[in-house]
Amino acid sequence: MPRDKTAVVTGAGRGIGASIAQALAREGARVVIVDIDPDQAERLSATIREAGGKAFAQTADVRDAQQVKSVFDATVEKYGSVDILVNNAGITRDALLLRMKDEDWDAVLNINLKGAFLCTREGAKIMSKGRYGRIVNISSVVGQMGNAGQANYCASKAGLIGLTRSNARELARRNITVNAVAPGFIVTDMTDVLPEKIKEELTSQIPLGKLGQTEDVTQAVLFLASQKAGYITGQVLAVNGGMYM
Ligand code: NAD
Repeated sequence: MPRDKTAVVTGAGRGIGASIAQALAREGARVVIVDIDPDQAERLSATIREAGGKAFAQTADVRDAQQVKSVFDATVEKYGSVDILVNNAGITRDALLLRMKDEDWDAVLNINLKGAFLCTREGAKIMSKGRYGRIVNISSVVGQMGNAGQANYCASKAGLIGLTRSNARELARRNITVNAVAPGFIVTDMTDVLPEKIKEELTSQIPLGKLGQTEDVTQAVLFLASQKAGYITGQVLAVNGGMYM
């Protein structure tokens, strides 16, 4: 388990990222809460500290190479290392292909995919020095199966799988594993915006008959981020209630 390890979690201010950050802190890791929303990040890191954990907040836009570098510099200065990186920050800007705006494409690809690249580049430099690392990228079931109205989002999440496998091959000799978790539809603010009818339709396609909870994703991430998962790299762990298999 990640006791005495330092974990950087992006998009950790709320939702799945917040659940992952809290769980890592409960397991004894020092956690860096990275989010574009300063209030959310501060609030969560205060909650973790009040519960006896170690955490600090870093406001950053994962699209911005300079801001990402600052996050990792600050982490090394405060905690001395980076052992775990969870690339979780992500957004949707849904539209049918013929109506999708360039800005919608760029925003989603830049945050969901380029953000993970920038964080991995910085994180892997530090992990390489320590000859240890666990990187977990949060992909999505729709990156595996596609979804009408989400060309940008699905491309970014499929791209994360390619990034995961390339980085896994490249970083293996430094004892850094790189894996992806591909959640199905999980109850968060991101999916709260879906109309009830769409949620019902989705649920009917899920063999386990319900949407997932943030905790379901968190448990998969905790395992891949742990020392126990040391011989697993380049894999995509689906947490989707059987929706895609
Ligand atoms: P969410 O919208 O609740 O949380 C996303 C967090 O990322 C927010 O705190 C937001 O402020 C932060 N963020 C957004 N842009 C950022 C940026 N540029 N830099 C830094 N932080 C930024 O979403 P969620 O449902 O918790 O999703 C988390 C991840 O899981 C995303 O990558 C999402 O694509 C993925 N995912 C979610 C579901 C789902 O059903 N909820 C399913 C599959 C995959």
